[in-house]
Amino acid sequence: MTKHIFVTGGVVSSLGKGLTAASVAMLLQRRGYHVKLQKLDPYLNVDPGTMSPFQHGEVYVTDDGAETDLDLGHYERFTGIPCSHASNYTTGRIYSSVISREREGGYLGKTVQVIPHITNEIKDAIYSLDDDETDIVITEIGGTVGDIESLPYLEAIRQVRQDIGYDNALFMHITLVLYLKAAGELKTKPSQQSVGILRTIGIIPDILVCRCEQSMELEHREKLALFCNVPLNLVVEEKDVANTIYEVPLELAAQDLDVYVLERLKLHVNRLDVTDWRAMVKRFVEPKHGEVEIAVVGKYISLQDSYKSIYEALTHGGIANNVRVKVRMVESEDIEARGAEALLDGVSGVLVPGGFGDRGIEGKIAAIRYAREGGLPFFGICLGMQCAVIEFARNVCGLDAAHSMEFAPDSPHPVIDLMEEQKKITNMGGTMRLGAYPCVLTEGSRARDLYQNAKVSERHRHRYEVNNAYRDKLTDKGMVLAGMSPDEALVEMVELPSHPWFVACQFHPEFQSTPLKAHPIFAGFVAAALGDKQ
Ligand code: GLN
Repeated sequence: MTKHIFVTGGVVSSLGKGLTAASVAMLLQRRGYHVKLQKLDPYLNVDPGTMSPFQHGEVYVTDDGAETDLDLGHYERFTGIPCSHASNYTTGRIYSSVISREREGGYLGKTVQVIPHITNEIKDAIYSLDDDETDIVITEIGGTVGDIESLPYLEAIRQVRQDIGYDNALFMHITLVLYLKAAGELKTKPSQQSVGILRTIGIIPDILVCRCEQSMELEHREKLALFCNVPLNLVVEEKDVANTIYEVPLELAAQDLDVYVLERLKLHVNRLDVTDWRAMVKRFVEPKHGEVEIAVVGKYISLQDSYKSIYEALTHGGIANNVRVKVRMVESEDIEARGAEALLDGVSGVLVPGGFGDRGIEGKIAAIRYAREGGLPFFGICLGMQCAVIEFARNVCGLDAAHSMEFAPDSPHPVIDLMEEQKKITNMGGTMRLGAYPCVLTEGSRARDLYQNAKVSERHRHRYEVNNAYRDKLTDKGMVLAGMSPDEALVEMVELPSHPWFVACQFHPEFQSTPLKAHPIFAGFVAAALGDKQ
């Protein structure tokens, strides 16, 4: 029987519930259990695919093509367990399936209500991960306890415990124990109140994970245990980590959180081995080769979460090369105003990530020109690759005003064009080319050398592609089509052999990078940047 752990959040958002869930999953997995993770988001969008990164941060894409919450990126990076469409449900998705069933006559004669119909749909989403191979499912409830929109979720998980029994379901509440600077004190009251809200719904948390900036004293833990009805040893501290998020599981393991979870679920406590993880953290904390600075040139720079997986993958590339990657976040519009030189001077590599819309495009193109002409390692991803092709077409092939049909539909040289299958699409949600597709790497290319493989699988999220009518013009001037779809209909990677390191891909390799196994292109890029610095 599959057991269930539910992770809720109290007091404020952004407590790192996703990181905590991912860390617990990783520890349980390393104690020999098959774990799956899931996030339930209370907003009304059917998925985050149509939201701006400024609203929501990065949209994480799974192999099976789901556009999901960025916490799923943590899940995969910490555990290597692949997520899927079943790993992220939103209120929009839950309601739309209930409403379409109602229209089909699926509830004939009944009044359709939040309880039981919406809550049943939520429970089905939770149980959809149960199977013979899965020992434990961890479900993170998005938002904060007390939000109106979270209520059906809390009611549903309360019912799950009734359905499957006390020993098979566990409630873990992540809360903030805030430090009041003026008083010089840690305050437990908001946490007590958020547990109070849970209690009115019929949920008493089994474990309290307390996020804090300062260490808690025994008195704080005793107070929380008393007021929140949680045994003292199950009031666990999750203090801000000193160096990297990858320390979180080690800190939680040091307090035996995973042991308590297993005991509470009546599961055998097998030995825990985190030697490789510890070694990885050490390489991050004390890198042999110091630091290397890489610029990320984008338009969502002001929000750290917008390029989450990119920043993480750069960190992984650093770990693989025993160097700390320092990211210089460059707003592409600033390059338009002040020039590439002023903003990129001194960096050892330039990365242009994915994106949508024309704001800042010319700044990205100028950054790519600067890297290409200056022999600076360059890595383009999705829109970053499209901009690299535009730059090359304009400045090397002499195709004046070359552009993408996304931004300049009347360009005389649309070197980036809408994919054929996209031309008839009118709905915006979930209709891009999404998820994993195979890519065949050209013999003798840098890509093939980096991957040490002739055929790879990578995740996509785009509507536009290199316009095949321009392939010859680009290759005549020295651009190599380094990766192609197996039927050769789509260009998936380009590179410039005449340049020290210039690689770009239409897919998103950042989604498959993990701290223990950096993605080969990220590892290669950081190695090139390190070489450039030295
Ligand atoms: N806007 C571009 C497209 O749709 C690139 C998308 C991306 O970078 N993810 O093709």
